[in-house]
Amino acid sequence: MQDLGGKPVIQRTYEATQETGLFDEVYVVTDSKIIFKEIELNGGKAIMSIKEHDCGTDRIAEAVENMDVDIVVNVQGDEPFTSKSGLEQVLSVFNGPDADKIDLASLMTEMYDWKEISDPNAVKVIVDKDNFALYFSRSPIPYPRDKNAAVQYYKHKGIYAFRKQALLDFYNLPMRSMEAAEKIECIRYLEYGKNIKMAISNTQGIEIDTPEDLVRANKVLKEDKTITVNNKYRNFPMVPKVIFGRGSFDQLTSILAPKRKDKAPFIYLVDDVFKNDEDLINRMNLRFNDKLIFVSAEEEPKTQQVDTIVKNIKGEFTYSPSGIIGIGGGSILDLSKAVAIMLTNKGSASEYQGWDLVKNKAIYHVGIPTISGTGAEVSRTTVLTGPEKKLGINSDFTPFDQVVLDPDLAAGVPTNQWFYTGMDCFIHCVESLNGTFLNEFSKSYGEKAFDLCKEIFLSKHLTEEESRGKLMMASWHGGMSIAYSQVGIAHAMSYGLGYVLGTKHGIGNCIVFNHLDEYYPEGVRLFKEMKAFHNIEIPEGICSKLTDNQMTTMIDIALSLVPLWENALGDDWERIMTRDKLRDLYLKM
Ligand code: NAD
Ligand code: ZN
Repeated sequence: MQDLGGKPVIQRTYEATQETGLFDEVYVVTDSKIIFKEIELNGGKAIMSIKEHDCGTDRIAEAVENMDVDIVVNVQGDEPFTSKSGLEQVLSVFNGPDADKIDLASLMTEMYDWKEISDPNAVKVIVDKDNFALYFSRSPIPYPRDKNAAVQYYKHKGIYAFRKQALLDFYNLPMRSMEAAEKIECIRYLEYGKNIKMAISNTQGIEIDTPEDLVRANKVLKEDKTITVNNKYRNFPMVPKVIFGRGSFDQLTSILAPKRKDKAPFIYLVDDVFKNDEDLINRMNLRFNDKLIFVSAEEEPKTQQVDTIVKNIKGEFTYSPSGIIGIGGGSILDLSKAVAIMLTNKGSASEYQGWDLVKNKAIYHVGIPTISGTGAEVSRTTVLTGPEKKLGINSDFTPFDQVVLDPDLAAGVPTNQWFYTGMDCFIHCVESLNGTFLNEFSKSYGEKAFDLCKEIFLSKHLTEEESRGKLMMASWHGGMSIAYSQVGIAHAMSYGLGYVLGTKHGIGNCIVFNHLDEYYPEGVRLFKEMKAFHNIEIPEGICSKLTDNQMTTMIDIALSLVPLWENALGDDWERIMTRDKLRDLYLKM
């Protein structure tokens, strides 16, 4: 009954289980009148168990004894982050080749952190080669006498799927000593020689066994993201291949050649500023059924635009393309990443906006920036505007397989645009370097990019060619700097502008950053110096004519980006950045 984001833990667990859509019926079985009433009051189904029981499984056996059911899944009440994929996995073993041998199935998750492995609150399980459980224990099993032996530790998750008959069979079996000693109920089945098939699921959220867990869970819920035991330290992919240098674009044909699959075209998504650039088009060297699609970067990429391009490609070609080649600024690079992902994943791109929702590896994709600053060429995200939100598809499959950095391609960029996009990089550095998430990894990239930006935007001694090469690398480093940390206030507020007014990322950041001296004094001072040095005009007063509704939406969108605020202002950010404060800031712009 403890509170988890405004609802009792048990109610959250009940809803999460129901929302998977995997079950005909979901019940809470309890001997507590308080829990029973709470569930019924909220329109759920609860069963009052009449008898005293030693464990939850017995209680469930009693509840289903007279029900006509096939498979019963026991989800523990303290598992509010129960995921659909975990339940799907535990159910799937009943369709496997050894289904006949299985009395019950349960889940386990890989564990790596020795502190957790040796924590008695975490139940470990060891399995045979077919993933049948050998033993469960609160001790680390196996004991690592030989530290070099490659063992995988598994943590047991309290989710069970029983055949009804198995559940009833065990109902009357008395507890034996090992179960009594470890206080782990599934040991009873092993003690009576039953077969427990374990399925692996690494998508686990957090269980709530201790008051500290509850605090952590409340935090996770607020951030609307799941931290798992396995991503305490992030293990993110980097672009595996990159080529740099003036004229390196000419090597594209030879880079692509080994990736070409029979009859499968390369699809080029190219910024339409290059529509009449015959030289560039010739250098692309299109072969066979390769296809060139010009895309406007006037508006930022939309999920629907991604869906349409994917549909057209699938309609036109029998074979899945050999690869997607994106040539342009952040808009085209993001679009290309998203198209590559959606060619192998079902449904609409809008279903994948968020963190780690992509299921299948994207097709081979190459990014070739023609304007520098966003870091989109190196990042793990593709920012899309969808029907409900502006949010990236963040996944391990998003980054490019290959990047071509040819500074000459950025030769034609108009000064204002060069500044806006370049400042995106500068702001990435300022926000990352002044953020609470900063670590040495981010810092090493951020500092390099910051220094490059100062040189590029404030020095009189660089040639244009030198400046373009440096900005290309600044963009790369700035992107790497936020990979492990986060952006901050300017980005949160710029997303609000983008969503409500369609203001583009680069210029939106500049409009906001110009007024953030209270939060980033040194960065804003330098920004103003750079702006003056290059005679750049930043629009003013763009929020003065907003309706109340628009302002509310803008504030909602900005405040919804919790990690950005937390990075900028720390855990206490909500007290510092109130709605009124944010409104004042927007009005100042
Ligand atoms: P952009 O891609 O929208 O391009 C800006 C303008 O410059 C366009 O008009 C384009 O046609 C023009 N342009 C590009 N190359 C040119 C060239 N060589 N010569 C002349 N004109 C050229 O701008 P951007 O600032 O690079 O990208 C902004 C987008 O990037 C936004 O959609 C933003 O959400 C996204 N973004 C993504 C990430 C990420 O990590 N994925 C990070 C930051 C921003
Ligand atoms: Zn940015």
